[in-house]
Amino acid sequence: MSDLSSLSVTAALIGLARGDFTSRDLTHACLAAILKHDPELRCFLAAEPEMALAAADAADARRRKGGDLPPLLGLPIAVKDVLAVEGMTATAGSRILSGFQPPYTATAVRRLLDAGVVILGKTNTDEFAMGSSTENSAFFTTHNPWNTERVPGGSSGGSAAAVAARLTPAALGSDTGGSVRQPASFCGVTGLKPTYGRVSRYGLIAYGSSLDTVGVLARGAEDVTALFNVMAGHDPLDATSADRPAPDVRLSAGATLKGLRVGVPEEYFIEGIQPEVEERVRAAIEELKTLGATVQPVNLPHTKYALPVYYLIAPAEASANLARFDGVRYGLRVENEDVIEMFKDTRGAGFGPEVIRRIMLGTYALSAGYYDAYYGQAQKVRTLIARDFLAAFEQVDVIAAPVAPTTAFKIGGHGDDPLAMYLEDVFTLPANLAGVPGLAFPVGFDAAGLPVGMQLMGRHFEEETLLQVAHAYQQTTDWHTRVPEHK
Ligand code: GLN
Repeated sequence: MSDLSSLSVTAALIGLARGDFTSRDLTHACLAAILKHDPELRCFLAAEPEMALAAADAADARRRKGGDLPPLLGLPIAVKDVLAVEGMTATAGSRILSGFQPPYTATAVRRLLDAGVVILGKTNTDEFAMGSSTENSAFFTTHNPWNTERVPGGSSGGSAAAVAARLTPAALGSDTGGSVRQPASFCGVTGLKPTYGRVSRYGLIAYGSSLDTVGVLARGAEDVTALFNVMAGHDPLDATSADRPAPDVRLSAGATLKGLRVGVPEEYFIEGIQPEVEERVRAAIEELKTLGATVQPVNLPHTKYALPVYYLIAPAEASANLARFDGVRYGLRVENEDVIEMFKDTRGAGFGPEVIRRIMLGTYALSAGYYDAYYGQAQKVRTLIARDFLAAFEQVDVIAAPVAPTTAFKIGGHGDDPLAMYLEDVFTLPANLAGVPGLAFPVGFDAAGLPVGMQLMGRHFEEETLLQVAHAYQQTTDWHTRVPEHK
């Protein structure tokens, strides 16, 4: 029973159902792997061994009782620390929420718990999910299991590194501008950002509310599907949740993509992109052709505006969302007899430099006299970006592109240069601005042995197509099964 922790979601569920091992065995193996590797990798802000083992025992007891069993019974997962789970702290990687215990559980997590999952703990994130490397976490930086001098990507870097290092079969993340897809790419795992509104945001600590989505990271498309089917669906507790039937994605075993039209946008193969990234992504597109797809160029002409538009809209929304952290209702309070000074001191001490930068940018963009020129203008261009996608999806079924211009960069590599960090997001932001789903999965390695990811984007609510295409690819390739050496 060695190395149960390296099982994929699919293999773990089969083993549990067959009785090859119990949820306690599996959960114990994951906790042992965390104990062994996390001191070096630092994926977890808080592992919860006691709660996890108790939940595993409850799952095993449920299985012994028999009858109709929930689909994920006994499966261990990790949860990004921007999602509320009752009984666990939720810090969003920020000092201002140090020790904060939310009194309720996020809907996405609640549905997974109802389906039987066991939560191993909360994973590291850039503070309030603002970043692309986990270096903005107020607590520590997570290390990439493929090379511990490299970042795991971000902001869901803790989740991505934990899945890659085989500390958990799957993990939840959030994606506002790439935070599931980019770390999935940097760590060589599969990550889904669903359509905006597909998975409830209730219980997700808000960053940019018109962009925020809750996503999943796991080994392959099949594994991601198992969790997505459970998490997605309408939730009256989130006013932006789409009132549509819950998905029931069933991946077909055959690996043919006959009839599928793949679009390749030239705007995503720009100068400055690492040559090996372009090579590997183009090779993967060729592979889709071999599987029966037709490939054609498409245009997304407003792509170049996605970065400035996002870095106006996301900070604007963040500046409003983060106004609630004032020392009164949540987390940290720096005492001062003068209440206004108390607000100021608390926010000054509680927020890190990147969060402060974004609050200032956002407040400026929303202020009287600048609103129309910045925020208003950005909203108009956002519409143009969304229309680019609608037009492209009249010609093709999916769009294939790199996830990020480079593979994982060195820890500290972007130093104090926020713009260099923002540029990492250039290929992931458009899907959030348009609200379309995106799936990242590994398609090879660069010369330094770092994973390269490809991104598929699809029509609103067509996650199934993306998952099916990646599944077909993963049935004929093995990049998603590669394991980082340290293990
Ligand atoms: N890196 C982007 C940012 O810093 C996206 C983060 C995210 O998706 N949460 O805002």
